[in-house]
Amino acid sequence: MSKKYTLLKKDGNARRGQFETPHGTIQTPVFMNVGTIAVIKGAVSTMDLKEIGCQVELSNTYHLHLRPTDKVVSKLGGLHKFMNWDRPILTDSGGFQVFSLAKMRKIKEEGVYFNSHIDGRKIFMGPEESMQIQSNLASTIAMAFDECIENPAPRDYVERSVARTTRWLERCKNEMDRLNSLPGTINKEQMLFGINQGGVYEDIRIKHAKEIAKMDLDGYAIGGLAVGETHEEMYKVINAVVPHLPEDKPIYLMGVGTPSNILEAVERGVDFFDCVLPARNGRHGNVFCKEGKLNLMNAKYELDTRPIDEGCECPACKSYTRAYIRHLFKAKEMLAMRLCVLHNLYFYNKLMEDIRDAIDGGYFKEFKEEKLRSWEGRS
Ligand SMILES: [Zn+2]
Repeated sequence: MSKKYTLLKKDGNARRGQFETPHGTIQTPVFMNVGTIAVIKGAVSTMDLKEIGCQVELSNTYHLHLRPTDKVVSKLGGLHKFMNWDRPILTDSGGFQVFSLAKMRKIKEEGVYFNSHIDGRKIFMGPEESMQIQSNLASTIAMAFDECIENPAPRDYVERSVARTTRWLERCKNEMDRLNSLPGTINKEQMLFGINQGGVYEDIRIKHAKEIAKMDLDGYAIGGLAVGETHEEMYKVINAVVPHLPEDKPIYLMGVGTPSNILEAVERGVDFFDCVLPARNGRHGNVFCKEGKLNLMNAKYELDTRPIDEGCECPACKSYTRAYIRHLFKAKEMLAMRLCVLHNLYFYNKLMEDIRDAIDGGYFKEFKEEKLRSWEGRS
């Protein structure tokens, strides 16, 4: 198969690259905008996503499998048609939600038995099922089915779990190859990313990274972080794992994080990010600005006629004042959330664009330090 990831430039360990997919080329480092059930919460449409510079949308396999079901999405031509989005989509494997939301779960070698968090019905999901669901959804990139281990977890449990995750990854790869060769498959070029696990045990992480690096996948993710460990522990794991993943494949840090976390991880060689933080914060009136985070509910913005963030080119900042958006929040109008979510997603996508420029220009370190100083203690 032809080369998909091209490393364009390195600045320290920070990587500037591009990733070719059946739905277009992704410029990296990139932030993927999280649309859990094929929509960004806060009344944000795919037309909006284009306006705010979103390159990749991320949807959740577990949620879409339960509602409206992947069979329905497949009948409607796959996620791209369903949500009217022609750029890349990444679907997670459902593993994280199975382990965090589902009730009464039982992990076996074949997969996980659990009850739906919506209606309690019994469901089974293993590597093959996760691949079949993601194939029905027809996303651009599918994630391997893994066990997301709680933190902290005893060392012997983590070792056994990681070994099983490796066996599951082999099954995911075989099943995806089979599905991509079937005549009825919507996206026959669906890509697969494997996931590194191992909790905060660096040696287990490294051993696992070496094993999965041999499997020639389209990309590699670092999973099981941002689940309660400290930032320092997270950075230590990234430092340990990245050198053992293939340099000619993209690296994705799952579920991370704050703008500062992203800068730190880019500096350590990470290319892909996703996080619910900008949308979730926006829905509560918490907005990211040049000088850090602020909350528009605060009384001091009642007569503030400035935009959320001066100089920001997003649809909210180009047209509305802090005072107006604060009024909308107080009156519980939906537009308040929508404007703040749009601004925050624009902020994240623009941050990634500036990061790419900084790596291109060879001034990433200075850029990072200046950003961290300006957000100090507020993001
Ligand atoms: Zn803005």
